[in-house]
Amino acid sequence: MPTGYVWHQKYAWHDTGVQHMLGASGGARGPQHPLLHGESPDSKARLASVVEASGLIDHLVRLPVASATDEDVLRVHTPAHLARMRHESLQPKGGDAGDGSSPFGYGALEIALLSAGGAKAIVGAALEGRITNGYALIRPPGHHAIAETGMGFCMFNNIGIAIRWARERFGIGRIAVVDWDVHHGNGTQAVFYDDPQTLAISLHQDNLYPFGSGLLEERGAGAGLGTTINIPLPSGSGNGAYIAAIEQAVVPALRAFRPELVIVASGFDGSFMDPFGRMMITTIGYRTMTQRLMEAADELCGGRLVMVHEGGYSSLYVPYCGVAVIETLAGVKTGIEMPWDDDWVRLPDQAVTDRQAAVIARAGGFAAELAATSGVPVSQTRP
Ligand SMILES: [Zn+2]
Repeated sequence: MPTGYVWHQKYAWHDTGVQHMLGASGGARGPQHPLLHGESPDSKARLASVVEASGLIDHLVRLPVASATDEDVLRVHTPAHLARMRHESLQPKGGDAGDGSSPFGYGALEIALLSAGGAKAIVGAALEGRITNGYALIRPPGHHAIAETGMGFCMFNNIGIAIRWARERFGIGRIAVVDWDVHHGNGTQAVFYDDPQTLAISLHQDNLYPFGSGLLEERGAGAGLGTTINIPLPSGSGNGAYIAAIEQAVVPALRAFRPELVIVASGFDGSFMDPFGRMMITTIGYRTMTQRLMEAADELCGGRLVMVHEGGYSSLYVPYCGVAVIETLAGVKTGIEMPWDDDWVRLPDQAVTDRQAAVIARAGGFAAELAATSGVPVSQTRP
């Protein structure tokens, strides 16, 4: 079955404006010459552009997008948050998702609902059997948004909205979220912290954002104890650490949990060139991580693996990373490759260091505990 793809031109119209990285723009009183906001459309629009121009789009099934409804949003968010987003979206100069660093322009609500609708579209297509896997290139992102507020450039929790909708629409049970954005997927974790049916795994740079969030010790609560797994990797982690984390912690946890669908919260801000992260993943790393997760999905849930876009702020490199991932999902090659990647993989810290290995080993232990409590021994689920 084919690979699905979501993109809507209005995702590039979400207006985050101009600022003094990262504070609000002070105009003439700002400390520096204003820049475009960090979460500008550029990296996403350039990825969408290369998907079309390279011909990669010809190997994908483009999915139509409908806006998420108020009912969809309210399965995750409070009425007060939705009402505030609606009110501020109608102001001539827009508003902010909640933390003062996530500005949006007039009419942003419409695009945010279209973004959550993109997550619904890719999840729905996989569950209806119209695609095996797919990539939803959506904006604004979602994984930092919690029930009461947006933050970290996110207005609504797109993946959370798609999961709650899918539960109601299809009656699906176990869903695993693997978040490889460089920042902690705190919003997704918060939404599903006590939900034993949702495995929330986040690989991220240790204590980057939100500060103090995404610790190894955060494991879920109540009936959901054990179904939150954080893998906070030290800054400087590259392909070696990320691939080891996928192989030694993420895939064993997936085997223990036996999801019916795997959703990747796909940020490319763990890349070598990202301005906000200090990690070293290259396209080769992203290709390999995608391959490993596809193999796990093949083994566990008929290959059902969908990716939903989150962060990634290098306008130059995000398109290469995105093409690498989407090509891998579709099993094709366009020949679009970053010429420096071969040099970057030879850098010394692309191999796993002892500090990185220690974190991965602890997270791998959580997968073993999950297997013990779920009654599905990790070793016995190997093909
Ligand atoms: Zn991020």
